[in-house]
Amino acid sequence: MKNIILSLIIVSLISTGIAFGLSEFIDFWKIFTLSIVIQFAGSYIWKSRSIVYGEDAISEIADDLEELINRTLLEVECPCGKYKTIEPVFINEALVLECPDCKNKFSVLIDTKTALITEPLAPEDVYAQLQTANEEKGSTSVFETIKEQPT
Ligand SMILES: [Zn+2]
Repeated sequence: MKNIILSLIIVSLISTGIAFGLSEFIDFWKIFTLSIVIQFAGSYIWKSRSIVYGEDAISEIADDLEELINRTLLEVECPCGKYKTIEPVFINEALVLECPDCKNKFSVLIDTKTALITEPLAPEDVYAQLQTANEEKGSTSVFETIKEQPT
């Protein structure tokens, strides 16, 4: 209520100013009324514009979230092999599913591995370097080291 009265006072003051300034050319009350109408129309348009922008922002966030969830979707299969489903899988969250076929509960384990994606200029040198590094660690081959890693 306080805001409405304040708005009315501001609108009236602006209209009075404009009407007073133009009273030499146009009738004071005509320009006063016109100014009030323009201000209310302008305010209405401004408010509906910001509502549209707000809706745009919300739908943009919703789209981003949906895309993010779509990226986490993985096909998971029950160890019994009779049930497959697509679920959002997050690395730090345990996913427990119940198989409708065998009635067992199963979870999804995420295992990560790393691989070089840069192209070595001389693959033989890189291989030799890796092998030397592994021999220093006590194992005999690159492949043996990979096998030794905990799964
Ligand atoms: Zn199953």
